[in-house]
Amino acid sequence: MNVPLLDLVAQYRAIKDDVLPAMMGVIETQQFIMGPAIAQLEAEVARLSHATQGVGCASGTDALLLPLRALALRPEDEVITTPFTFFATAGTIHNAGGKPVFVDVEPETLNIDVDAVERAITPRTKAIIPVHLFGQMADMQRLLALAQPRGIRVIEDACQAIGARRRIDGEWRVAGELGWVTAYSFFPSKNLGAWGDGGMIVTSDDRTAERLKRLRLHGGAKQYHHDEVGTNSRLDTLQAAVLLAKLPHLASWSAKRREHAAYYHTAFTDVSPVRPLAVDPENEHIFHQYTLRVERRDALQAHLKQEGIGHAVYYPVPLHRQPCFAHLGYAPGSMPVSERAAGEVISLPIYPELSHAQLDRVIDVIRAFYR
Ligand SMILES: *Cc1c(COP(=O)(O)O)cnc(C)c1O
Repeated sequence: MNVPLLDLVAQYRAIKDDVLPAMMGVIETQQFIMGPAIAQLEAEVARLSHATQGVGCASGTDALLLPLRALALRPEDEVITTPFTFFATAGTIHNAGGKPVFVDVEPETLNIDVDAVERAITPRTKAIIPVHLFGQMADMQRLLALAQPRGIRVIEDACQAIGARRRIDGEWRVAGELGWVTAYSFFPSKNLGAWGDGGMIVTSDDRTAERLKRLRLHGGAKQYHHDEVGTNSRLDTLQAAVLLAKLPHLASWSAKRREHAAYYHTAFTDVSPVRPLAVDPENEHIFHQYTLRVERRDALQAHLKQEGIGHAVYYPVPLHRQPCFAHLGYAPGSMPVSERAAGEVISLPIYPELSHAQLDRVIDVIRAFYR
């Protein structure tokens, strides 16, 4: 039995009777640009993020880039982030005109190391971008305690973490609730995926929301009148309709992912060369990825491939070691936790529609490899 890393066709079959009529609704009116589904989705995603405003945009990358552009960074301005993330987190800092400053991650969760953030803060630090990696929130409370008194903005990269929660002082706080702004991606493989590209920013800073709404429309609140230079980064109305139809399923999909993760976790407890990443007990993880640290990773990959088990390495090269950032001068060994993780991690199928037979097959193949 082959088990793919992700099976979007299985999801499509389950929900197409909801999604196709929603798309047809847009097509019948021919209101493709900034149609009513956009504001509706913005309101719903803001609500689930405990934020007051949503600003739809063209991608998760733009959901990071637009707020960074709103900071009007100069070349010496620094933005602290993690090297163990998708490229866009740091690429957007560069493209917004600032300088990415990388700090290492915690060994157990691979989320940003807050002590390292503290050591990296300088008078030029303008923002911090924590990434809620693989669907589990970073330590927002400690980050905000560092950032807020210094006037440093916190931009949450929640592209992998829509609906994730963290208990702070006994209360559940959600991704998108605590940062200055939060970026979401609706790339098809994300937990809430569109049928194409899409993204959204949420915030409870109403003035910033107005600014971002201008920036996504060439910087003009009024058409043909431009207060500043923005860009075209609208969310497509068809994608908003797809996402509105999918949104009611998100919580149950995340619950399924958690169930599958628990099943894997139990099955791997006695396989010592395999160690799942830790879940911080204060977090409710949404398992965008289910990631293990393993011995003999490359040989395991070859074995999984031969057995028809989908898998991927997120991420094989930490961003401080990417050729495009060589000018920043990070030597090999400068981020030891990230560099070690890059050689050990592997992500397994965790999508909601997986059957127990499929999970068992993945487990059997991995157990057989290490036997
Ligand atoms: C997917 C992702 C992005 C970018 O989203 P796109 O919609 O693909 O532009 C940014 N950051 C992280 C952590 C992501 O996983």
